[in-house]
Amino acid sequence: MQPLNPEEIIAAFDDKDDLLVPDLATIDWQILDYLGWIHPSGQEGYVVLQSPNTGTVCGIRMNRSQRGSRNLQMEMCSWCHHVHKTNGTAMFTLTVKGSDGRHILGNVICKNLDCSLRVRNLIEPGSFMRESLYEPARIWRMQQQMHKWLGRANQI
Ligand SMILES: [Zn+2]
Repeated sequence: MQPLNPEEIIAAFDDKDDLLVPDLATIDWQILDYLGWIHPSGQEGYVVLQSPNTGTVCGIRMNRSQRGSRNLQMEMCSWCHHVHKTNGTAMFTLTVKGSDGRHILGNVICKNLDCSLRVRNLIEPGSFMRESLYEPARIWRMQQQMHKWLGRANQI
């Protein structure tokens, strides 16, 4: 994605309350499809990306709830399809824009919002279920899944 500065990131959010922009010095923008980070409280996740429809930079705020540590099932991220052995995903929910908070969508996503690194195999451990899909295809699929869901929420 195109590199962004803190001002551009803040400007992308309608609701700027308690928004803590991460340190951007260590970010390699070339390998990111979206910038994602978690609030220090662990309760909120943020996603910034360029809208595939308009090209504008959009900021999306989601609530995060982690599942109990007793959950020993494998979990697959609905965006990047990385299969985590245990506790690698969280439930993220967001409000459909324009619904006055009446419509909420939820999705199971990598808990640290690091799907871009996972589809490129840049983070350990690798997916529990190996995929033969070629890397550009995994990246494309991830972007499609993410855009579809954020589009349904009128966020991009
Ligand atoms: Zn993921």
